[in-house]
Amino acid sequence: MNRRSFLKQSGSTSLLWLWPRGLSARRAVRRVRPSDSGWPSKAAWKRLSDEVGGNLLPVEFPLNACLRAPESADCKALFADLKNPYFIGDSPAVTQTLGWIDAWASQPSVYAVAARNAADVAATVNFARENNLRLAVKGGGHSYQGTSNAPDSLLLWTRRMQEVALHADFVPQGCQGTRAPQRAVTVGSGTIWLQAYDAVTTKAGAYVQGGGCTTVGVAGLVQSGGFGSFSKHYGLAAAGLLEAEVVTADGQVRIANACTNSDLFWALKGGGGGTFGAVSKLTLRVRDLPEWAGGADFTVKASSDDAYRRLIRQFVGFYREALFNDRWGEQAHFSPENTLEISMVHIGLDTGQSRKVWQPFLDWVAQSPGSYTLDSHMVIGSMPLRHWWDVDWRREHHHEVFKTDARPGASPANVWWKGDGGQVGWVVWGFESLWLPAELLEDDAQEKLAAALFAASRSTEVELHFNKGLAGAPPEEVAAAKDTAMNPAVCAAFALAIIADGQGPAYPGIAGREPDAAKGRKAAEAVHRAMNELRAVASAGGAYVSESNFFEPDFEHAYWGANHARLAAVKKKYDPDGLFFVHNGVGSEQWSSDGFTRL
Ligand SMILES: Cc1cc2nc3c(=O)[nH]c(=O)nc-3n(C[C@H](O)[C@H](O)[C@H](O)COP(=O)(O)OP(=O)(O)OC[C@H]3O[C@@H](n4cnc5c(N)ncnc54)[C@H](O)[C@@H]3O)c2cc1C
Repeated sequence: MNRRSFLKQSGSTSLLWLWPRGLSARRAVRRVRPSDSGWPSKAAWKRLSDEVGGNLLPVEFPLNACLRAPESADCKALFADLKNPYFIGDSPAVTQTLGWIDAWASQPSVYAVAARNAADVAATVNFARENNLRLAVKGGGHSYQGTSNAPDSLLLWTRRMQEVALHADFVPQGCQGTRAPQRAVTVGSGTIWLQAYDAVTTKAGAYVQGGGCTTVGVAGLVQSGGFGSFSKHYGLAAAGLLEAEVVTADGQVRIANACTNSDLFWALKGGGGGTFGAVSKLTLRVRDLPEWAGGADFTVKASSDDAYRRLIRQFVGFYREALFNDRWGEQAHFSPENTLEISMVHIGLDTGQSRKVWQPFLDWVAQSPGSYTLDSHMVIGSMPLRHWWDVDWRREHHHEVFKTDARPGASPANVWWKGDGGQVGWVVWGFESLWLPAELLEDDAQEKLAAALFAASRSTEVELHFNKGLAGAPPEEVAAAKDTAMNPAVCAAFALAIIADGQGPAYPGIAGREPDAAKGRKAAEAVHRAMNELRAVASAGGAYVSESNFFEPDFEHAYWGANHARLAAVKKKYDPDGLFFVHNGVGSEQWSSDGFTRL
């Protein structure tokens, strides 16, 4: 007789205490939707609303205007707004990525709590748990995988939690006497990176490691590991986390740091957003700011496939010799049109020094004018790092690098990099990533790497993000990264290869604005074919959870490697009933793909 039938036959509920907590009879098997009888009553919603100071909002889906009248002026205006990340961020109903062909399309929750503080967060978590609801958490809303939206759910929306406070002598709670005080910044979990950079760098002349895209949310990025342009020098954003205030599934507001709830703290450093609890505040390490930073931006076009092969081979060797260190980050792109596009940044070099670095490569290109054309807009130079995110300074110096929120009344400080503009309101066709180990830069492996890059570029454009692999970073930053939950492969990688494709704002069911599924599927195949060429030389690489394939096979291993087992144990301890669910998150394999039914 098995355990279940024994209990049934004994007819005894008094024996239920024998069940381990994870198998409790209260455990949800299926979460409720608005059409279910178990959906909370109006009175219950009213109680939640009162508890959160009236900040419970019914969620209106703006795309309904287009679904009803695709040709209307309202719909046209909406599609213009869907190119503005601040419009998207200011709405609980839409997400920065609008969908992914054959995977998901952005859908609104039924209600959202526009939380103001940890008490609101706890009230939301408790309400969702007690009423067996699907809970979703939206911060900056930049998830490619659609993990910050879910239909028929209650949304915890952190947008209004944007306070930023600098500390001269921060010591994590419970660490007094064991940790030296240090400079730090505490941010509300709805803060976006531009706000953190404004306070720490522009105003205070210091540095905090965050993300590249200005409108990404701090909480989402830190929980996935997080890279910025200068991560080759300063390491992972997650490694800079000193303390988090987090509401766990039981509704407790906890402090997590190296001395208190250290297992939860470790999991929050790269174990993936929306999985271990709802973060209400984060405190991050603040560093000294070097005087200079800058970049190299140019494109070289090869006149033939053969010349392109030689160009890639030359670049790989040059990268190993001159750029494989903690000063140079960001990207090189290899395209089917036989172009090499350099879009890299450096830290700590002045203009003369940065040009000197590139001169040997530019000389090599110049030696073969019949084979290579260098674009006329080449820029290699430096600027004071303090002004990197300084909107006024950039305007004054005619650096046309930002797009601005043009909504009436919007703050002129609402800006985003032009380079990220193409991904606002994006519908993903295909997206894959792979860490490339530094062994591929060794003398006897460079040929193989160059050949793989060329072969991959025959299918579609390949991007190498050098700042998203920590080989070449200072040893203390590599050590700090090893103390996070990220896949340890990040420490051995010189770059993260990203291959991705997609289209501008589109939504299923809106005539004239439907995602192009046929084109998208073809593009996804090209992405996959191209990445397989790189996998052939870097099979054990792993993928970056935040920038990866929705259909990632063996995601547990790809995202977290050997750390997955420890993450699964932390998940079981703090969220045994799986209140926090995201697609391909730790513990998600126990749920249906929509997070409603326990398998
Ligand atoms: C245009 C663009 C550029 C990007 N650039 C970079 C880059 O330079 N470097 C990099 O490392 N990544 C980058 N990313 C990836 C990005 O870091 C991740 O998608 C990140 O998770 C987004 O965080 P968010 O808060 O903006 O998004 P959201 O979609 O709101 O959140 C992401 C995940 O975290 C969860 N989450 C959010 N807030 C909380 C919270 N308070 N508590 C618990 N869970 C929470 C959500 O539920 C969701 O599962 C980029 C993405 C885009 C779209």
